[in-house]
Amino acid sequence: MVEKLKKYVWFVDRCSECGACVSTCAKNILKFTNGSGHPIQETIEKNIGLTHIIADTCFFCEKPCEDSCPRLKDWDLGPTIQKTLVTTELPDGNVVNALIVSSLRRKLIDGAILWDIDSDSFRPVPRIVVDEEYVLKSRGYQHLWYPILAVLNDAIYKERLKKIAVVGPPCVVQAVRSILTSTNSKLKMYRDSIRLIIGFFCDGAYTQQLVDEIVDRFDVKPYEINTISVDLRNKLMRIVLQNVLVKGIKMSEVRKYMKKGCAHCTDFAAEWADISTGKIDFEGTLVITRTPVGQKCLEYALMEKMLRVLQVTVGMDELQKLILDKERRKRVQEIDTILSSILNSLAAREYNEEIVKMLKSLRR
Ligand code: SF4
Ligand code: SF4
Repeated sequence: MVEKLKKYVWFVDRCSECGACVSTCAKNILKFTNGSGHPIQETIEKNIGLTHIIADTCFFCEKPCEDSCPRLKDWDLGPTIQKTLVTTELPDGNVVNALIVSSLRRKLIDGAILWDIDSDSFRPVPRIVVDEEYVLKSRGYQHLWYPILAVLNDAIYKERLKKIAVVGPPCVVQAVRSILTSTNSKLKMYRDSIRLIIGFFCDGAYTQQLVDEIVDRFDVKPYEINTISVDLRNKLMRIVLQNVLVKGIKMSEVRKYMKKGCAHCTDFAAEWADISTGKIDFEGTLVITRTPVGQKCLEYALMEKMLRVLQVTVGMDELQKLILDKERRKRVQEIDTILSSILNSLAAREYNEEIVKMLKSLRR
């Protein structure tokens, strides 16, 4: 059984639904079901004589699912090489697409897992892209959730990609970084195939109920929505419609549609990506290179003239504030830990003292 995932992630609503465990499960028994907020483990049940047995399907498994889960590790702030403010001439100003196109042209990667939107339903869909024509068609991340890493096996085994770029928010970045730094032999294929992690800044991702709210509130059809963006400085969600009208909703009014797992997430700036990117209140987009491969990715984008530098170093006060705001969610994690310990104490009294200590520490 996947005890750690159940106890420390699923039962305490910490799952980000990144999909890493589903892809890496050696026995293909983890699946997503609608609305549970986390994957579930399929069980094999059989009758032997008069006895009904639930087989432990994870017996003898190296548990790559647990080694790839971002929620089973503590994450500090990551490395930074350079912070650059950039802009792109691409029609929708999509800096991630610019990075992917130039990395493909320079053969840093041979494909990428990207976020896109189904135009009719405005539902998020994953895209495995291998050429720039398809990258440029992608409408990018729209703050709506899809367990993007669940398509990792398709990229490796069906598309036979060997130098994959994965694009995602910090939880996805942490999952991929967990895979790349693990020594679990069942994760080797993934380690050998992933070349680049592009992260974007994230304050939280939303369920499809957000689209239902937009449709009701503004009396529009899903296909009339062009983009959803988040203005963190003014705490406003901006919805651009196909007819170029812009609608706004206060973020406090749509928080209820944020995924449960996001309440427990403390990484804003994709600290463990090779290259992180996002808009705050700057005119352009901030790009933070964090590893040599991330630095190369930025250099290629500048050489290919996909990106243009606006300013080499930028004032980071606003970014710092958003990083700290999100770090405060660590308090929620402390409560999770207590919850797990209370569950333990129901089984064994020796945990009681530990709980008292934790409750005291919460009063800090
Ligand atoms: S956070 Fe990702 S890896 Fe962890 S349980 Fe949830 S879906 Fe699986
Ligand atoms: S806040 Fe963003 S990074 Fe964190 S779990 Fe939610 S989607 Fe993932």
